[in-house]
Amino acid sequence: MIGRRGGSRVGVLALQGDVREHVAVLASLGADVSLVRTPAQLADVDGLVLPGGESSVIDKLARLFDLREPIVARIRDGMPVYGTCAGMIMLADRILDGLPTQLPFGGLDIDVRRNAFGSQVDSFEAELDVPVLGSAPVHATFIRAPAVERVGEGVEVLARAGGRVVAVEQGVLLATAFHPEVDGEVRFHRRFLDRVAGPRP
Ligand code: GLN
Repeated sequence: MIGRRGGSRVGVLALQGDVREHVAVLASLGADVSLVRTPAQLADVDGLVLPGGESSVIDKLARLFDLREPIVARIRDGMPVYGTCAGMIMLADRILDGLPTQLPFGGLDIDVRRNAFGSQVDSFEAELDVPVLGSAPVHATFIRAPAVERVGEGVEVLARAGGRVVAVEQGVLLATAFHPEVDGEVRFHRRFLDRVAGPRP
């Protein structure tokens, strides 16, 4: 499908991280996707994906590119956002084990611990049960992944791995500690696009 899905355009924050993989998944679902590196580009999208990468670098570059304040404002105004891994960290209201000056954009009422699975298991893969996506399990790749350590009222836990919360949703904000975009798993992105196009929860 070519053109805007439901008349919407979505952006991928393109400061650092696995931007290309997200663009590919979104495009495969028929989305009109653009890269977001400036406030003007942000103003032109109806939803935003925050990629995986390194959250402290994304934070630093967002401030340098004058994107931090506009992104925080758009989230406050109800823009749908999907964050993976570092993107989940950026969406959290509070970061545990962040660098001293590191700030998230916030919006999701959660506390997230960076590198929560420790250096012994920097990366691992798992089959996850994610009931809201149907009965087929999600093959999930974790790369120096965070975990959610506090979930506020109004935040729905979508998945756990080894007892830890690794996928959450609050209204139009969706976050996973893992990277569906590297595994051909499109259901989280489709859910995000549905939020962008459709009636808001
Ligand atoms: N550990 C990284 C961080 O703190 C996240 C890793 C990832 O996005 N794969 O931002």
